[in-house]
Amino acid sequence: MLIGSDTRHAVVIGAGMAGLAAARVLSDSFEAVTLIERDTFPRESAPRAGAPQGHHVHGLLALGAEVFEGYFPGLRAELEQAGAPVWDWGEGLYAVLPNGTPPPTPMGMPIQTFSRPFLEHVLRRRVRALEPVTLRDGLTVTGLRTAGPGKVVGVRVKGGDGEDEIAADLVVDASGRSSRLPQWLATLGLPSPRTATVDAQVGYASRTYSYPDGQTPPPWMGVLQPLRAPDFHKGCYAIQIENNALHVTLHGANRPQLPHTDDEFLAFAKTLRGPVAETIAHLTPTSAVRRYARTVNRRVAYHRLAGWPDGLIALGDSVCTFNPAYGQGMTVAALEARLLEQMLSGRHTRTPLDGQAFQRRLARITASPWLMATIPDRAWEGSRPSWPVKAGNWFMNRLIDTVPQDPQLYTAFSALFHMTAGPLTLADPRLLSRVLIGPRPGRIPRTTTT
Ligand SMILES: Cc1cc2nc3c(=O)[nH]c(=O)nc-3n(C[C@H](O)[C@H](O)[C@H](O)COP(=O)(O)OP(=O)(O)OC[C@H]3O[C@@H](n4cnc5c(N)ncnc54)[C@H](O)[C@@H]3O)c2cc1C
Repeated sequence: MLIGSDTRHAVVIGAGMAGLAAARVLSDSFEAVTLIERDTFPRESAPRAGAPQGHHVHGLLALGAEVFEGYFPGLRAELEQAGAPVWDWGEGLYAVLPNGTPPPTPMGMPIQTFSRPFLEHVLRRRVRALEPVTLRDGLTVTGLRTAGPGKVVGVRVKGGDGEDEIAADLVVDASGRSSRLPQWLATLGLPSPRTATVDAQVGYASRTYSYPDGQTPPPWMGVLQPLRAPDFHKGCYAIQIENNALHVTLHGANRPQLPHTDDEFLAFAKTLRGPVAETIAHLTPTSAVRRYARTVNRRVAYHRLAGWPDGLIALGDSVCTFNPAYGQGMTVAALEARLLEQMLSGRHTRTPLDGQAFQRRLARITASPWLMATIPDRAWEGSRPSWPVKAGNWFMNRLIDTVPQDPQLYTAFSALFHMTAGPLTLADPRLLSRVLIGPRPGRIPRTTTT
């Protein structure tokens, strides 16, 4: 593609959640935005090779839903019209916590559930319709085009027509977990960025079900049974999604033996507390069992890399991936797109974006979700945890153990989980004291042991 030298052009690598959100934001500031995706997109909503996580339950947190709605007005209504249910988190969730199940608690926290491919399909259609955006699928970015070591001026690509180069004023790496950015930066003479990892060795196995004619769906809209070291090493997510389907993910920590066959899937579900096994035993599977185990938390310290080149930024899973069990990735991608918008809108059109400053501010966005995921996950790692990690885990476990008895704490915890409130909410003395006192013996409202 030849873009005239006087056209402000941005290239986004990868049309996953972060790439779509970034393209939407860039379309307000750039005259042309090219979104490059190595997969060829399916016509209908379906999982694809470049985003294999699409086979697994994807919950969009309340904050993420709010940010996406802001960028794509009417998105929630459009998804709902196409069959994605909207429900109140406190009323519709059957949470199977280590210490019991909280009773239904109206929270005024609307949640919408759908499959990841369906959300992506709708967002892709919206992004394609944006004037400045060209979506080029079936094209792989193979490297960066540079003008000297300190400046990125485009990308090299490979597709059905062979190899080519695309010039750009700004290149956005949104190529996800498998990003090759560290290797590309190495060819510019930059050192390897420091990378932190925490691995609870969580594995996923998922499939979808339909309800046979005449069968009423269960009374809940979602089931959540979280993992917790060291005793609760199996759990699940189940959500009602579009097309009147149920999406079920079973998961386990510490390299679990994941189910493969119909029988193994049901047998794994039967080892859990809560209603999932009983529900799926009467449903018709509409997909094979799909497994996934690349769930390590990984944070690349691009914000500390000396010599970060001009004309380049990175966001989404390419920079920071979380153990998906905490459901944070899509919401963090949305928040990073919002940061991009803030940094673009505050400057003169032709002033280049300060890529290094962007990476520094992005690191502040990922800091809190990183702690939310890695503090509990460190408890699965064999090494001896530091005292702040031990204290953090003690506090979170005490909170979660008190939640089934305390609707106000349940609501506060849910807001924290959905990122609509920060950790400081729990510093409120009325809440803090109840966490410190902890659960009262014998007052668990609904026992969920099978
Ligand atoms: C099993 C699992 C379950 C998850 N569950 C949840 C959940 O419940 N809630 C939640 O919020 N998040 C969840 N996530 C995380 C979520 O999927 C990611 O955080 C989110 O998709 C990040 O978006 P991204 O755009 O950075 O990466 P991706 O969505 O992975 O997109 C990257 C894109 O880049 C493309 N690409 C890669 N390399 C190139 C290249 N060289 N050239 C062109 N294109 C390229 C890929 O094909 C892909 O389309 C889950 C993840 C996993 C693995």
